[in-house]
Amino acid sequence: MPSTRILLANRLKLTTAALCVLVLSLATPLLLHQSRAYALAENGVRSLDRFRATLLAMESVSAERGPANGALGADALNAPSLRLPLINARAESDRRLAVLRSLVTSQACPGCTVERASVDAVQTQLAAARKQVDSLISQPLEQREHDAVLSAVNQMIAVIPSFGPLANASSASVVRGDPNALNCVLVARLTAQLREQAGLLGSTFTAALTAHRRLSETELFAQERAKGRIDELRSLIAARVEHTPVGTAIYQRLTSVYYDNGLNYMARVRAMALHPEGANLTAAELAAEYVPTMRPIVQFRDYVLDLADTEVKGHRNDALVLLVASGIGTAAVLYFLLIASVYFRRRFVQPFIEAADIIMAIADGKLETPVPHGEYRLEIRSLFHAILVLKENSIEKMRLEHERNILLRELETVADTDFLTRLLNRRAFERKATATLGRRGGTQAKQVLIMFDADRFKQINDTLGHAAGDLALQTIGRLCSEIWRQPDIVARLGGEEFAVLTRVDDAFEAIAAANELRRRLASTALELDGVRFTVTLSFGISLASQTGRETLDALLLRADKLLYSAKLGGRNCIVSDIESSTSH
Ligand code: GH3
Ligand code: MG
Ligand code: MG
Repeated sequence: MPSTRILLANRLKLTTAALCVLVLSLATPLLLHQSRAYALAENGVRSLDRFRATLLAMESVSAERGPANGALGADALNAPSLRLPLINARAESDRRLAVLRSLVTSQACPGCTVERASVDAVQTQLAAARKQVDSLISQPLEQREHDAVLSAVNQMIAVIPSFGPLANASSASVVRGDPNALNCVLVARLTAQLREQAGLLGSTFTAALTAHRRLSETELFAQERAKGRIDELRSLIAARVEHTPVGTAIYQRLTSVYYDNGLNYMARVRAMALHPEGANLTAAELAAEYVPTMRPIVQFRDYVLDLADTEVKGHRNDALVLLVASGIGTAAVLYFLLIASVYFRRRFVQPFIEAADIIMAIADGKLETPVPHGEYRLEIRSLFHAILVLKENSIEKMRLEHERNILLRELETVADTDFLTRLLNRRAFERKATATLGRRGGTQAKQVLIMFDADRFKQINDTLGHAAGDLALQTIGRLCSEIWRQPDIVARLGGEEFAVLTRVDDAFEAIAAANELRRRLASTALELDGVRFTVTLSFGISLASQTGRETLDALLLRADKLLYSAKLGGRNCIVSDIESSTSH
């Protein structure tokens, strides 16, 4: 039984463990996938910060060209009003570059190797370009060579493409984290390029305005190229804005302020600058009019970046919710499994083991074992009810068996007993005497058979009636019971003939006992219906052979012969082979 119990408990544990492993094997890939999705989304959020910082830094470096061109086209050395905007613009560029650098450090972004290298390249290039600009500004205006000024301007322009790898890397990372952010990222990128081209378009006028001359062919070509690029970017942005819920109001502002006002203004300046003496306008005046029209470009870019920010953060939060929900779901399923296992064990396995124990105890006859009747489910209650019935049946069966044994014993007694004298009958005498004969009896080593027979009994029956004979037989039985006790075997062999097999130390004890019976019966006056009478007995007593080989029949035969001798010898006497004498 204990092994069954352990087997059951272990099997339940194994099943639970197998189910847990199954749940985990199904849930783990899901959890891994979702944690990867969350990590990508989180990385997307951080990448968008880098993307924004890149575009802002790019815009500042681009914007720095305005005051730089202004200073290059004027005697800035003696005009603080021209130097101050340049100083401020550079400070703003440096500030934004510092922000960008802080976002790509190895602590903030361990994987941003390309970005770190790009920031380094931008800063080195920018420092070189600024140095060139500063060295030209420090010269008197008339000494500045045209080519040197052009080279300085171009160096400033050349810094911008170095932001390319930075913008590419961070935008790709944003889209990997949240593909839905693709449109916003592209529009922001295109808008940043639009701002750059718009700036470049303005720069193409600087040299001609400063020199108060007509626009050269190269400058016209550069303008056409910038204008062509602007138109291209405009249609690309428009195509993307059309199919997205990007705010139309802010886009309308970009259209009306920059595309209409800004570009129209530039077309007018261009027409004026085609006169041989050039346009009657300074570079600073152009900047003052044109630069504000570019502001809606960066406003639109920031708006689109904000949209992207909302999108990637929402996506990141959704991924986190999914991950947490999956984790909780998995934990809940595992918890449910464990609870179910414990419940099943308590509600089914435990009662089953208990029931098995009780059945085994009942089978072993331990009927006092209590049968529980606690708060069990219907099936288990039925099981215990059945066991209770089994137990009650077992108790009943035991009771019946006990009664049957008593009856059997009684029956045996009845079968062995002579109904009239209450002594053993012949059959019982033969069985018991045969079993006793020859068996060693401790100190009482001698066995003696006493046979006796009522004298002239026929005559009593004939003269006094059968009832008188029965009374005489009953009296003999009573006296025998008083004289001999267990283990002496006293029996009525049949009719008025009796036998006693007694074990004695001394054979004369047997003769004495027989003599006592003879005397007591002879001196007992029996009375029936007012008639008094007495009965006597004749005895034949023989000592059993001590070899243990003599049969009961042989012994009975010997005693019977001695009894016959007693009858012949006058009755009411004892004849034994213990001593060849007759006692009266
Ligand atoms: P003896 O002294 O030689 O033994 O003579 P007896 O008359 O006793 O011997 P006998 O064998 O001739 O007679 C035995 C009688 O015992 C015959 C029978 O009627 C009587 N008897 C046998 N069994 C019973 C019994 O159960 N009740 C009564 N009342 N008489 C019985
Ligand atoms: Mg007789
Ligand atoms: Mg007889």
